[in-house]
Amino acid sequence: MKVNFVDLKAQYKTIKPEVDAAIAEVIANTAFVNSRSFEADFANYIGTKHCVGVGNGTDALFMAMKSMGFGPGDELITAANTFIATAEGIGWTGATPVFVDCDPVTYCIDPAKIEAAITPNTKAIVPVHLYGQAADMDPIMEIAAKHGLKVIEDCAQSHGGTYKGRVTGTIGDAGCFSFYPGKNLGAYGDAGAVVTNDEELATKIRKLGDHGSNVKYQHDFQGTNSRMDGIQGAVLSVKLKHLDKWSARRNAVAARYNAGLKDVCIVPQTADDIKHVWHLYVIQVNNREEVMKHLTEQDIACGIHYPVALPVTPAYAGLGYNADQFPVACGIQDNILSLPMHGDLTDEDVDLVISEVLKVAK
Ligand SMILES: *Cc1c(COP(=O)(O)O)cnc(C)c1O
Repeated sequence: MKVNFVDLKAQYKTIKPEVDAAIAEVIANTAFVNSRSFEADFANYIGTKHCVGVGNGTDALFMAMKSMGFGPGDELITAANTFIATAEGIGWTGATPVFVDCDPVTYCIDPAKIEAAITPNTKAIVPVHLYGQAADMDPIMEIAAKHGLKVIEDCAQSHGGTYKGRVTGTIGDAGCFSFYPGKNLGAYGDAGAVVTNDEELATKIRKLGDHGSNVKYQHDFQGTNSRMDGIQGAVLSVKLKHLDKWSARRNAVAARYNAGLKDVCIVPQTADDIKHVWHLYVIQVNNREEVMKHLTEQDIACGIHYPVALPVTPAYAGLGYNADQFPVACGIQDNILSLPMHGDLTDEDVDLVISEVLKVAK
């Protein structure tokens, strides 16, 4: 591969001594379950009182919503274009995901379309800070306050990103993070976390992930097993120290792509007063299949995020939506293309990708 989509080997080379020492220490201490030290580091970084480490980002969403008491008969509003995990988190509480179309410029949930989706059963809004850009939170928080709804932020792609100076994950009632290896802050396995200022909620989530218990063998309710393991926490604490530097590099890469590609395709735009952390760099081209084929032949990795909008994905066919109800999410589906994006891309890598895209994109 000439240019990787994500390059965890290149990243590891830059942090090997630190990461190896941190992992060795966990093994020496046999501290395999729980990661209190990373939880404290991450709460401090994000700026919330609490951080609860869990097994993965999907669990973070499910456990936050379950701990808020949502279940069968409840409706939770989320974006039509996101990774399926956002809707799965809602679905596993027993509640129903209600999809709302996205904004054509930021690709995040369109706040102007939320109120039409509210019914007497609506309990919460679950905005996703998609591709690393914060959703438009002010109108979302206003609608939530007006209708008495909770707000759970899906921050799986927005580690360290901000909205009008506020860090994503601190604006709603809870922020849910994934540390899947390919995320901006990635573990060496699966991991996730919920951040919140609500102590009661944090305690419930922690108990839910530890068999309904905070005292050994005293089970207050039926929980599950979803904790962040010690090795993941140790790796994440090391990587957290480098996150802002990596985000800055992603930002420079995006600026270079934008400058090189803006005349031939639709390049991503950042709304005012947002710190975008560029989990993904997504363009729109009219001849996507041709561009993908060409890039693949040149050994340049690319992807589609996401190929099918959730309302029309087979898993949610039962909800009875059709593509006409989501003109933006369904309209961009055949044109969106994600180019390589990570903190170890060189200017030469970026220039190569730009020149190959320019050869074929229409
Ligand atoms: C990755 C991701 C998740 C799920 O995280 P996992 O750790 O893979 O379970 C949830 N929401 C979004 C938007 C994601 O990108």
